[in-house]
Amino acid sequence: PFDVLVVGGGPAGAAAAIYAARKGIHTGVVTERFGGQVLDTMAIENFISVQHTEGPKLVAQLEAHVAEYGVDVMALQRAQALVPSRSPGGLHELYLASGATLKARTVILSTGARWRSLGVPGEDAYRNKGVTYCPHCDGPLFKGKRVAVIGGGNSGVEAAIDLAGIVAHVTLLEFGDQLRADAVLQRKLRSLPNVTVLLNAQTTEVEGDGNKVTGLTYKDRTTGVVHSMGLEGVFVQIGLIPNTDWLRDTVALSTCGEIEVDQHGRTSVAGIFAAGDATTTPFKQIVIAMGEGSKASLAAFDHLIRLPAA
Ligand code: FAD
Repeated sequence: PFDVLVVGGGPAGAAAAIYAARKGIHTGVVTERFGGQVLDTMAIENFISVQHTEGPKLVAQLEAHVAEYGVDVMALQRAQALVPSRSPGGLHELYLASGATLKARTVILSTGARWRSLGVPGEDAYRNKGVTYCPHCDGPLFKGKRVAVIGGGNSGVEAAIDLAGIVAHVTLLEFGDQLRADAVLQRKLRSLPNVTVLLNAQTTEVEGDGNKVTGLTYKDRTTGVVHSMGLEGVFVQIGLIPNTDWLRDTVALSTCGEIEVDQHGRTSVAGIFAAGDATTTPFKQIVIAMGEGSKASLAAFDHLIRLPAA
């Protein structure tokens, strides 16, 4: 059996695997895609100490770093069920879609998350060419430009406030007839001179010139009239979905499906840890996922050295 079995090979999982393997214990990683969301990322400018890198390049470096420690990486494998050990110190069982079963003394869940997309024409075509999902990552690229934020919940309103300090103008589009963000955020938003809020606005298309975003169309849901506006960036903020459906009956999840973890990355089940975007830890970023993955791994090691000798 594995001493530490990591499920998910994004930055959280890679960091967890490296920290575990450096303890000289038997470490495995099961992942659908090695690299996770970083594979879909173009420019990365907030990976601290590296001024600029690209997603695929960072993933190749992560892969090489993990390989250096002889971690057993099982890529292109999807986990579909986890059965925790019934006795303290017993083995947890991970069932893969391929039919295989893996056993481990501790498990680190780092299956990440995915951004909910609008599903309108132009969104996919202009992804990373003006369409983005991460204000912390891409805000500075739009310095002095016009952007839209889609979504009037907390993340959309926070994004609009954040961006208003960087860009020339922000238009926030909310589908419903009112914003859903906390009142204090709404007050802050409405106090900003370079923000326009549109309610009942259904985004219908992202427009571009073939290379980059040039505008957006939306339908006013009260009149049915379609409007067009020129802008350079579209920040989609309509939700982040954790990849945790398969864990619903295994570990405690928050109301939005995030794995509940304590400060050590412990889940509700002894010997099962979690890290990164799949968890309740706030702020979904690469350096944070790596820090949390490292922490969960050290916590798993702490747990292992307290188990009775097998
Ligand atoms: P993920 O990266 O989501 O990795 C999860 C892994 O788990 C994946 O490999 C997936 O295949 C695997 N997996 C999921 N379910 C299963 C299963 N059932 N069985 C097996 N494997 C499974 N952050 C920054 O700090 N800077 C940026 O510039 C930046 N830009 C971004 C740009 C884009 C387009 C996107 C989408 C995100 C960006 N982020 C950025 C956010 C950052 O990528 C995430 O915070 C980070 O990747 C989270 O790491 P993670 O390991 O928790 O999860």
